[in-house]
Amino acid sequence: MNVPTASRWRNLGIIAHIDAGKTTLTERLLWKTGAIHRMGEVHDGAATTDFNPIERQRGITITAAAVQTYWSVAGPGEHRLTLIDTPGHIDFAIEVERSLRVLDGAVAVFCAVAGVQPQSETVWRQARRHGVPLIAFVNKMDRTGADFAGVLQQMRDKLDANPWPLGIALGTESALRGWVDLVGRSVVLWDEDGGFERRPWSAEETAEYSPARERLAEAVADHDDALAEAFLAGTVDDALLKAALRRATLKGAGVPVLAGSAFRTKGMESLLDAIVDYLPSPLDRPAAQAQSGAGAVELPPDAAGPLAGLVFKIVHQEHGPLAFVRLYSGTLKVGDMVWASRRGRRVRVGRLLVVQADRGSDVAQAVAGEIVALAGWKDAASGETLSAETDRLELPSIQAQPAVLSWR
Ligand code: GDP
Repeated sequence: MNVPTASRWRNLGIIAHIDAGKTTLTERLLWKTGAIHRMGEVHDGAATTDFNPIERQRGITITAAAVQTYWSVAGPGEHRLTLIDTPGHIDFAIEVERSLRVLDGAVAVFCAVAGVQPQSETVWRQARRHGVPLIAFVNKMDRTGADFAGVLQQMRDKLDANPWPLGIALGTESALRGWVDLVGRSVVLWDEDGGFERRPWSAEETAEYSPARERLAEAVADHDDALAEAFLAGTVDDALLKAALRRATLKGAGVPVLAGSAFRTKGMESLLDAIVDYLPSPLDRPAAQAQSGAGAVELPPDAAGPLAGLVFKIVHQEHGPLAFVRLYSGTLKVGDMVWASRRGRRVRVGRLLVVQADRGSDVAQAVAGEIVALAGWKDAASGETLSAETDRLELPSIQAQPAVLSWR
């Protein structure tokens, strides 16, 4: 398979309060993109991102494994998504902090009934502090008492967020059947098997939904000059609205919001499209900062730049640890000798893997913007910076905020 270029990569996390449906959602996204072929039930501990046995027993996500998959949006080209599992439980604040350091954007999942719960509030604020662009998915729209508008209001009240609803759910609770796409002026109809059909608005639907689209365009236009101009001239087309939404989301002006039901595999395709359309690629993110013996260094995401990667997660497996590395700059190759900042010694890159669902595939190298697992490094520890021995770089260390730990 040809790997798409870096502008088509999305390294993202899914953040949520426990029980909002993050595990179910992750699994449905992987299923929808073809990365897994059989949907396991969350209850039996078979969910794909649940890597280790402790996690399976507890039924909560305590590790932050990175899983790769591909999604094609309408039009040419495939996008590569790397889902970085971010723990929802506050006991793992440092892990949350670590995953926020290495992802480029995130999907915040809220329960349509419970709304914005305290743990999602905490992680939301952490994400904001790291300048991570966000989109939101209001899950469990199939449940009795689901309230999309209520969740939008809670986002304003509790998160000081500026939510931009990208659509309107058709039907409620058990009769949930589709999604009106306000940006693409289409209707997505969901079936019971996770399938969907998309068609353009009819004349009646155009009359019915245009006011909501106008409100969305007007709200985004407050943060985007090109859209504001087109809005005043009455010439907002779908491509411009989408591009403006992307620009405004990347600068953190607001949060595109979608809705559906992960459990019933409804709304996954719109969410995948939104991930591609509105979350950043590694190239959209600010350059990483590192320290070297000679002072501070700026590291733009350039494969030809100096090597700099952060080990953010160790997953222990039967055959030894897997060290997950986010590369900010440079190229990491099998056979390289690299400098590990904390150990203060050289490490040989014996094997590199990318994880696709529950399998690892060997790769010969990884470049800036990619996430890769290094196998065979016995005393690997998270927080290490990998760089050339001659550079000896150190990416900033990760610390949990006391305010986060004291919550609840
Ligand atoms: P996590 O703790 O955020 O990872 O949440 P889980 O994915 O484990 O889901 C928590 C519970 O909510 C499980 O019993 C799921 O089956 C259920 N659940 C998840 N998504 C939905 C949904 O869209 N609708 C309904 N009705 N239940 C859901």
